[in-house]
Amino acid sequence: MAGLTLRNVEKSYGALTVIKELNLDIHDGEFLVLVGPSGCGKSTLLRMIAGLEEISDGTIAIDGKVVNDLPASKRDLSMVFQSYALYPHMSVRKNLAFGLQNLSMPKAEIARRVDEAARILQIEPLMERKPRQLSGGQKQRVAIGRAIVREPGLFLFDEPLSNLDAELRVQMRVELAALYERLKTTMIYVTHDQVEAMTLASRIVVLRGGKIEQVGTPEELYTRPANLFVAGFIGSPR
Ligand code: ADP
Ligand code: MG
Repeated sequence: MAGLTLRNVEKSYGALTVIKELNLDIHDGEFLVLVGPSGCGKSTLLRMIAGLEEISDGTIAIDGKVVNDLPASKRDLSMVFQSYALYPHMSVRKNLAFGLQNLSMPKAEIARRVDEAARILQIEPLMERKPRQLSGGQKQRVAIGRAIVREPGLFLFDEPLSNLDAELRVQMRVELAALYERLKTTMIYVTHDQVEAMTLASRIVVLRGGKIEQVGTPEELYTRPANLFVAGFIGSPR
């Protein structure tokens, strides 16, 4: 598990500043949900934490160690994208194993991790299929499985359920909650779905225009929203 510290983090694309002097402490083992309107910088923030995007200013530390200059592959984390990003020509089993093969990990250990992820996500009967032979929910399970096999200290999720239909979203939300109960690994989860935020989060961060409007437990945000924007976003009756 890993805690995370963001200090005065900024991100600009040319003249456009999309994250502004952002400060945030994410606790070891918490399920932090990041919400906010489209374009407010949620994905950018996750990508900076993942090391997929350079930060313009400030520091990001994982478990007290500044990772600004550490490449994505050296960070102890896994990221799950909305688009699944599976390898189309590989079986589910190979998709799960692929990221471990260049870590000089023993074959038996790779097999153990792949089998365990398959069991947790209940995709054991699908292991020899190709991605095109899977439903959307099954693909997203494989994508989550690929994150799990790395056994990271931190999971980053960028709207992982937003391509699924309503019924499947509810089902996957329940499964994600169960996964978190099982692993208790630190999670940072981006969503624009209020129900997902309220039911999954230990704490919610409301982001607007690259700045934090409020951080709190779902109950705090619901009962004591800092302003009308948060109230509108969280859906409290104020
Ligand atoms: P969100 O995930 O909250 O919808 P993003 O983090 O994707 O928002 O984007 C935040 C802002 O940064 C948007 O205004 C977007 O247009 C801009 N942006 C994102 N990536 C780039 C990029 N590579 N170049 C220029 N602007 C970008
Ligand atoms: Mg986004």
